Amino acid sequence: MPPFKKIVIANRGEIALRILRACQAMGIKTVAVHSTVDRNLKHVGMADESVCIGPAQATESYLNVPAIIAAMEVADAEAVHPGYGFLAENADFAERIEESGFTFIGPRAETIRLMGDKVSAIKAMRDAGVPCVPGSNGPIDKDERRTQRLADEIGYPVLIKAAAGGGGRGMRVVHNPLDLLKSIQLTQQEAKAGFGDATVYMEKYLQNPRHIEIQVMADGHGNAVHLGERDCSMQRRHQKVIEEAPAPGITPEQREQIGSICTEACRRIGYIGAGTFEFLFENGEFYFIEMNTRIQVEHPVTEMITGIDLIRAQILAAAGEPLPFSQDEVSFVGHAVECRINAEDPEKFMPQPGTVETFHSPGGPGVRVDSHVYNGYTVPPNYDSMIGKLICHAESREAALARMRVALQEIVLDGVQTNIPLHQWLIEDRAFRKGGTNIHYLEKLLADRAG
Ligand code: ADP
Repeated sequence: MPPFKKIVIANRGEIALRILRACQAMGIKTVAVHSTVDRNLKHVGMADESVCIGPAQATESYLNVPAIIAAMEVADAEAVHPGYGFLAENADFAERIEESGFTFIGPRAETIRLMGDKVSAIKAMRDAGVPCVPGSNGPIDKDERRTQRLADEIGYPVLIKAAAGGGGRGMRVVHNPLDLLKSIQLTQQEAKAGFGDATVYMEKYLQNPRHIEIQVMADGHGNAVHLGERDCSMQRRHQKVIEEAPAPGITPEQREQIGSICTEACRRIGYIGAGTFEFLFENGEFYFIEMNTRIQVEHPVTEMITGIDLIRAQILAAAGEPLPFSQDEVSFVGHAVECRINAEDPEKFMPQPGTVETFHSPGGPGVRVDSHVYNGYTVPPNYDSMIGKLICHAESREAALARMRVALQEIVLDGVQTNIPLHQWLIEDRAFRKGGTNIHYLEKLLADRAG
């Protein structure tokens, strides 16, 4: 018996397709809710039912809570999977879903709220024994002298961050004590305008960290396991470009130590479902920066090395089932790398919507393509430019990169410009091939290339 009869997929693109595939394999019926420009999305055609919930503009469709709830009622669905982005980390949405008698596939609304505010998240994690970045441990003090003293103690540069920030926005680095108060004021204003909440906090600005995150899965029955780490240090403008698992150079002991800290924290806060603890990693130490209470874009690299279907596990957890595996049963095999394929100019990074004339997917052992693209598919200009992910798995990092080289060579995607040439260039880069580059590496490389 499937855990649910019918699920609404409240998302679009590759993740909606990924969720649909998991549902179909579990014998769950699917309802695709989509905007007017997304009628021809692959998963819409494959779903058992589809409902148009509004115009292209996301606020009127993918963020339109009453329309989604109405679609659930009309279709007589039991649960909703939010994917990532859109409503995935919206506590009010999760609450409304539960109040309407449906199941939200994700943690409890209260957990989303706790983790959605970075100040409360850091406090909860610090209390649970998770190592955090040295900082203000709360909102910045109104007392200017005390704030200046705190920054001196932490040591410059410091980072001013919006409690409600996200997507790499709402952050400002301060190098000089003279700029401190002005920078705080500016970040507060931006936070108020961008997120409706002026609260900011201070953290030490780590100069050369790597971004390493831990994937967790928990049920509501006191079981929590970690599925190892991912290295997502290849970033441009705080956006991940290439991700991999495991992280080069992390030892089994380090993995076990930080992993068990995360699972303990999950048990402490009664976490349910899939989650990610994001850390900066510098000089052998982990520093928590935030928790994502949803499935992430880069989840396939973890699936490839563990053999666990994370979307399936999310659905089972939401249905109240105990985790189908214990920590001892989780093992890590080989290495996986993911390249995010965006419809964008590979040099200037401007999104390039348009129609895909020809698409040939690469294949072969260890090659996985998560993409909703097909011949004739039109990439609309209304949403983000990611049109798929290419994931390669092999027994070693070197072998995974070799498969990635072949797959990037083999893929045909004509009609729109993509960042495939950027990936081809990056996977040949000496430092990247060695592994363990920090979060600033890609930006520096691009700046050098631009001369
Ligand atoms: P968001 O929610 O906007 O993604 P995060 O807190 O996850 O914000 O930070 C996003 C990125 O910003 C990180 O991956 C890292 O590149 C950089 N960053 C965040 N905090 C720090 C810090 N204390 N020192 C240096 N870089 C940081």
